[in-house]
Amino acid sequence: MSASSAKARKPVARTGSSPIVKDITDVASQYSGFDNHEKVLLGRDDDRGLTAIIAIHDTTLGRALGGTRIWMHDNFDAALTDALRLSRGMTLKAAIAGLALGGGKAVIRADAKRDKTPALLDAYAEMLSMVTDSYVTAEDVGMTLDDADYLRARTPNVAGTRIGGSGNPSAFTAEGVFLGIRAALNHKHGSDSLKDRRIAIQGLGSVGRALADRLAGEGAKLTVADIDRQRCADAATGLGAEVVSANRILTAEADVLAPCALGGVINEANIAGLHAGIVAGSANNQLLRHEDAAALKARGILYAPDYVINAGGLINVAAEIEPGGYDRARVLAKIGKIPATLEKIFAEADRTGRATNDIALAMAKAKISAGR
Ligand code: NAD
Repeated sequence: MSASSAKARKPVARTGSSPIVKDITDVASQYSGFDNHEKVLLGRDDDRGLTAIIAIHDTTLGRALGGTRIWMHDNFDAALTDALRLSRGMTLKAAIAGLALGGGKAVIRADAKRDKTPALLDAYAEMLSMVTDSYVTAEDVGMTLDDADYLRARTPNVAGTRIGGSGNPSAFTAEGVFLGIRAALNHKHGSDSLKDRRIAIQGLGSVGRALADRLAGEGAKLTVADIDRQRCADAATGLGAEVVSANRILTAEADVLAPCALGGVINEANIAGLHAGIVAGSANNQLLRHEDAAALKARGILYAPDYVINAGGLINVAAEIEPGGYDRARVLAKIGKIPATLEKIFAEADRTGRATNDIALAMAKAKISAGR
């Protein structure tokens, strides 16, 4: 639903040195991505170019943790919907991974290449300082490790930094996706070998490129696409990847399609044209709608639910704030459990005829209920 409410769009004037932060939970409740979110905040600082949404979905299991996406969505409605869907996904991700964390996510509506000034980040750090008790942020699309460090120097509720933290979580996310792809291959073909398997990767950013390196190292053949031509050229030169255009990658001939860019890329309109037998990637909210998983299943395509397979980064940053502090070996051991969780979901989906994301959702909800 598009609730382009005047309330949400009303400019919030900046009167002092801080961004104006408003609780827009009521407005957000009219949007289709809303799922009883606990709190949704809108921060505005017109002088410093900040329009930010912090969506706190569910803190039953702990403080909400989730990255900040810096992206110029087409309009405010799209940005708010994205924040709502992403934050819900974080709740499910933390629950399935067995973490004592809730789900939250932030979106800054800006072009990361053009608008991400120190002034904008200063204003955002001030907004974050107002929610230290309920929300911890980290990297996401458009937010780099340097940005996370910059914010962490100004506010404590930032994880995945070099300042007393474990750095960029993307390599850990990629590791979980890598293991998950092998689990999916094993389930579908009875072998997890990557030798000569072709993997189509959409997006060669922090996660996509690390995943590409890992897969190529195991003998996989890669087909890649990114809207950033340099990233494609680097993968072609460094990994021998075949490069296709951004609009051809989803339908590329491949054993596995790994969406590692933005959400909503698999939908009613393109499922019939997919060629890969497995969809397994890092992108959050890969399916436009929950029901799209049933359509994938009907076509015999095995879908690894995104919030299960891409939990590696969250597991890593969560370790920074766990009792006992960060322990890399413990993090890798937890990431090593992602394939077993996926196998349980795949087997249950086979047994019951239900879609994999139905099974995953039920598992996450059971853990949240138990936490209550
Ligand atoms: P990133 O910003 O580093 O990379 C995203 C890449 O996708 C960029 O190279 C961008 O140019 C490319 N891209 C954007 N639109 C595209 C399109 N239409 N076609 C092809 N390429 C396109 O982001 P990231 O950190 O690598 O995250 C990638 C995805 O994984 C996101 O959905 C993110 O939410 C999810 N994710 C990331 C982490 C993490 O640890 N970074 C953890 C969990 C989930």
